[in-house]
Amino acid sequence: MTHKLVRNADHLVTMDETRRELTGADIRIMDGVIAEIGHALPLDGAEPLEASGCLVTPGLVNTHHHLFQTLTRAVPAAQDALLFGWLKALYPIWARMGPEEIRVSTQLGLAELALSGCTMSSDHLYLYPNDARLDDSIEAARTVGLRFHPTRGSMSIGESKGGLPPDALVEDEAAILRDSERLIDAYNDPAEGAMLRVGLAPCSPFSVSRELMRDSAILAREKGVRLHTHLAENDEDIAYSLENFGCRPGDYAEQLGWTGEDVWHAHCVKLDGREIDLFARSGTGVAHCPCSNCRLGSGIAPVRAMRDAGVPVGLGVDGSASNDAGDLASEARQAMLLQRVSFGADAMSAREALEIATLGGATVLGRPECGVIAPGKRADIAIWDMSGLDAAGTWDPVAFLLAGPRRVRDLLVEGRLVVSGGILRGLDAGMLAECANRLVRRLVND
Ligand SMILES: [Zn+2]
Repeated sequence: MTHKLVRNADHLVTMDETRRELTGADIRIMDGVIAEIGHALPLDGAEPLEASGCLVTPGLVNTHHHLFQTLTRAVPAAQDALLFGWLKALYPIWARMGPEEIRVSTQLGLAELALSGCTMSSDHLYLYPNDARLDDSIEAARTVGLRFHPTRGSMSIGESKGGLPPDALVEDEAAILRDSERLIDAYNDPAEGAMLRVGLAPCSPFSVSRELMRDSAILAREKGVRLHTHLAENDEDIAYSLENFGCRPGDYAEQLGWTGEDVWHAHCVKLDGREIDLFARSGTGVAHCPCSNCRLGSGIAPVRAMRDAGVPVGLGVDGSASNDAGDLASEARQAMLLQRVSFGADAMSAREALEIATLGGATVLGRPECGVIAPGKRADIAIWDMSGLDAAGTWDPVAFLLAGPRRVRDLLVEGRLVVSGGILRGLDAGMLAECANRLVRRLVND
């Protein structure tokens, strides 16, 4: 049995039903689960983890990423383009990747997320060049130690059939469905507290057929796994939907079985009031990616209206080709700032942004046992050092957490230390960076 006691946290944010915040608090963790919260709890043989001088929060949750893109940060040709132009600049580079690039890129992206306080991340891998497989990401993620929700993405409509991606990057639809089934059977763990859950994720309505969207939804429901895609990302996306499908993206999703509590869509920047009602009624989730939306000039997602209507909303850093970082605390800050720019200084509080980043994300990924620090919940916990110069002078540590990019001191996933004293436990960060840069030089020179 593993037994830890987080002790003397200056400030503990629980995100429980009454949103309790405690000072001088302890958390007992037994076998990956939170057993008890209180003050001056006896050690009782537990391994102590001192948290005086620290803010303790639930681990942050990332609901949208393309980890393969971590090797294509800040690519010059893709820096100033809208979504479709940005994709066309990057497709040829991604086409040169293979299993090694996918593995290293995944490790790099998840390591970066872990250091920014993230305990659970999804991934959306939608291209498989040079024999790359989703198995490569899954294998790489295990070395970092985060709770992982990889999705089997796909593209099937290439340029020659009116789609956006080059023909070399698209796959046969029957093969996509066969591989989806294989991956679910091989890896998906439906149990409470699972470290790995597989989802299905055709890339977007403009890169797969209506049939693949529908068949993926049927397969996901047969297998009891979640569905994910990009939806209503910008004006080009809406125009494509109206021109090719004769309806708005929300209607298209509904027609094909892509609404419900087991579905979450990335971006949704351009959802209108009717579509927001549809999402709220059906329990369809949204992965809000504010930095990526700004970087690609897509617009400001109507998160205030979504939350007020009851749409489940989580945060996503999106791929590092459109962010260019993967820092969830920054993402929460950006979410808060964008709603304030749109609707005024009281449109979103720091606490609401942190709620979206933790509890919100866990809800969107269908993990009610995560995102909360309460007895019976999984021990996914971020410990933030507030004793240094950067935090000195702070009155409210929760609001301060969202003041800029942050690094955790310690990160627990299922009660295990993934980051300790600011250092990753499972990986050598220096070697990983060196390896990533070597692969980037190869991609540049190829
Ligand atoms: Zn994306």
